[in-house]
Amino acid sequence: MSIAVHAEHDLGGANTLGLPCVAERFAAPRHVGELREALALAGDRGWPLTLLGGGSNLILPARLPGLVVQPALERWWLEPMGEGVRVHAEAGVDWHRLVMALAERGLWGTENLALIPGHCGAAPIQNIGAYGVELGDVLEAVHLLHRDDGREAVLGAAECAFGYRDSVFKRALADRVVITRLVLRLSPTPRPRLAYGDLAGRVGEAPTPLAVAEAVCAVRREKLPDPAELGNAGSFFHNPVVTADTAARLLHEAPTMPHFPQPDGRVKLAAGWLIDQCGLKGWREGHFGVHDRQALVLVHFGGGSAEELLAFADRVAEQVSSRFGVMLQREPRLAG
Ligand SMILES: Cc1cc2nc3c(=O)[nH]c(=O)nc-3n(C[C@H](O)[C@H](O)[C@H](O)COP(=O)(O)OP(=O)(O)OC[C@H]3O[C@@H](n4cnc5c(N)ncnc54)[C@H](O)[C@@H]3O)c2cc1C
Repeated sequence: MSIAVHAEHDLGGANTLGLPCVAERFAAPRHVGELREALALAGDRGWPLTLLGGGSNLILPARLPGLVVQPALERWWLEPMGEGVRVHAEAGVDWHRLVMALAERGLWGTENLALIPGHCGAAPIQNIGAYGVELGDVLEAVHLLHRDDGREAVLGAAECAFGYRDSVFKRALADRVVITRLVLRLSPTPRPRLAYGDLAGRVGEAPTPLAVAEAVCAVRREKLPDPAELGNAGSFFHNPVVTADTAARLLHEAPTMPHFPQPDGRVKLAAGWLIDQCGLKGWREGHFGVHDRQALVLVHFGGGSAEELLAFADRVAEQVSSRFGVMLQREPRLAG
């Protein structure tokens, strides 16, 4: 056995919400062999297993029993492919650093996803998305290990069943696999996607991927709190998708409500707008609050716990429900 297992490992600095947490045991495997060892160890001893990436979409309890595994496979490389390029990125690679490195090389595809925190291994779980682009638009395949027996498999993009903040990894394969590597398909041929926000106004006539990525970073820095300064997990709620009848009822009451018709006839609403309309932007109670610039983001001022955060989030969701009759669903996952 070569994998190092640390006892009583502090994860307080390993989650962007800044919640205090101690892992009973912790391992950071550096290659697939070590990862397989960690899975076997947890299986043999009957330890509950928690997978951790950058901790930017997780709510951690005060104590995580069993074994926390944070894949530290950190290589990435390019493979020329006809007109385009394949990018192989292991699970522990920092997503934003990868995006910037690809943009610097003049490769199009991931630039709109700049400054999303976290590791590559977690990116397919909720099919990360921003500024009109989702991971599923550029992903070719996912390499993974099955948690029960350590066998390797490769899933093509179609098998990942990507949807809005959704994938097979939240459904049929939830808690059953560890993602070890992403394969992305990028292109040197210009294909800027600038329809969202004021991106078009921030880049010149002939933008480069780097110019777009930098514009995305600038917009995000203006709108979103930096987790290094104020604990948060980005958007705390999914944008709700409601029936056409519900949307029509709400639009009758609030004609300016942002709404986005979906191909299936339903309508996506902006959760941040709904929260804002309840007068909750900037609302603080105890150690948590609704961010004063972006109502979709709940922030941790320090000293709070996961239970307190969940109770605070419930109060926000209850107010939206009683005012609009729309139920908000939480985006970050509860660990343990
Ligand atoms: C400031 C801020 C802004 C954000 N903006 C966006 C945004 O614009 N768009 C967006 O989509 N998201 C956004 N997020 C959410 C978050 O960054 C993404 O969901 C990200 O992909 C999470 O990566 P992570 O490595 O931090 O995952 P973690 O939070 O560590 O884990 C998330 C889930 O993935 C599982 N997991 C982790 N690694 C693996 C693996 N190798 N194999 C299998 N399962 C694994 C974990 O068990 C957990 O269930 C934002 C978060 C913050 C804090």
